[in-house]
Amino acid sequence: MERTLAICKPDAVRKNVVGEIITMISNAGFKIIGLKMLRLTKEQAGAFYAVHKERPFYEELVEFMCSGPVVVLALEKENAVADYRTLIGATDPAEAAEGTIRKRFAASKGENAVHGSDSVENGKYEVAFFFSEAEIAANVR
Ligand code: UDP
Ligand code: MG
Repeated sequence: MERTLAICKPDAVRKNVVGEIITMISNAGFKIIGLKMLRLTKEQAGAFYAVHKERPFYEELVEFMCSGPVVVLALEKENAVADYRTLIGATDPAEAAEGTIRKRFAASKGENAVHGSDSVENGKYEVAFFFSEAEIAANVR
């Protein structure tokens, strides 16, 4: 079983579409093994997206991710990382396939409703960024 991290970003929370996004995730066969709502600090958002530190959109991305609460989900499924990336669609909603979460709910390349881990290794790292092994274990037993 593979794990991946999903985040309903502040724009999705503001639009009140978290429920619809979670329904799409559930209908696609993912098991929710962790879920929490929180307000990211600038430090947390900066650390989470540290890989993009040198990119021109980094500051704006960190500001956006702190602009309101997010809903973070740890997901489990066979092939979870790739299947969840397929479910969310391309980063830019203009390029996202029909029926994807970003096609339905993203406003722009920046405010694009959801996050998804981009590799199996990052899936493990990002789940551990938000959830302790004890929390996950308590949820799955
Ligand atoms: N982003 C942005 N402008 C860009 C590329 C990315 O604002 O030109 C933001 C967007 O919110 C994206 C996040 O930075 O989801 C992380 O970028 P990445 O390339 O990792 O896209 P993702 O993995 O989220 O599809
Ligand atoms: Mg990414």
